[in-house]
Amino acid sequence: MRCASNKLLLRSTKYQAPSTFFLKLFLLFTLLSNKAWSLDVVASINPVHQIILAIAGDDHLIIKPSKSEHDYQLKKSDISALIKADLIFYVDDSLETKFPKLIKNFQLEKKSYQLSKINGIKVLQNRKNEKKLDPHLWLDPENGVKIAEFVTQKFCETDEKNCQKYQNNFKKFRQEIFEVEKVIKSDLKGFDVDYAIYHDAYQYFENFFAIKAQKIISNDHNSQLKVSDLRDLESVKCLVGERMDERSAAQKLAKNYQIKFVKLDVIGGDEGYGYLLRKIAQGFVECGK
Ligand SMILES: [Zn+2]
Repeated sequence: MRCASNKLLLRSTKYQAPSTFFLKLFLLFTLLSNKAWSLDVVASINPVHQIILAIAGDDHLIIKPSKSEHDYQLKKSDISALIKADLIFYVDDSLETKFPKLIKNFQLEKKSYQLSKINGIKVLQNRKNEKKLDPHLWLDPENGVKIAEFVTQKFCETDEKNCQKYQNNFKKFRQEIFEVEKVIKSDLKGFDVDYAIYHDAYQYFENFFAIKAQKIISNDHNSQLKVSDLRDLESVKCLVGERMDERSAAQKLAKNYQIKFVKLDVIGGDEGYGYLLRKIAQGFVECGK
């Protein structure tokens, strides 16, 4: 892409007036100096953003990732960032529902990657609706490492010069996540608590660390609850909700049923992907106290 546009620029200078020629030459150098040593990358949501940062080594990201994993909103400036980007990573067509159309309309297919489709990634069905995929796949640490590996590969293909740096960062990341797994396994050793989950976002994490909810209340953030969704709720020790729960419906529910409420965060902040996983583990530990 980069080479093609440079060639095009040179070719079109053939019969130009000198002033235009120098202007174009200047533009070409600006283009090269801007593009040759860095990547412009778009990540749809924060956990993916955090993984990419670990590989890139510094901030190459041109749009702020979404604060919620669902209902991804794109501003006009985000769309121009998508068009400008070298690489676009998002989780799944069913999660970032606006991406497929944008990618098609602006012909961004060649630089867009749906992480649910990459080789070796573990994908689970929604526990309340088998026809749907559960998109919270970054909460499995092995998936996190797979995503990092894939991102490294794409970075190397796009920015060969810095490939060694990306590969070193990947090795560090893989080691860090391996250590995080060990810490979480020890945190959750012997965990045997009856808990309910409000929004079914944690099965990747639960599967990996061998814990299991007694009850799942809602399969998405805004669905209307039925009476059957609340059956046996009083028998659980705690209710796991989310930072982004709309109007903290989960919190109200826990209050009504007089059960403990633990707020988890599937999106996390700037502290990195490993920290996000550890915080979730701590939430479950808190649930059992
Ligand atoms: Zn969710």
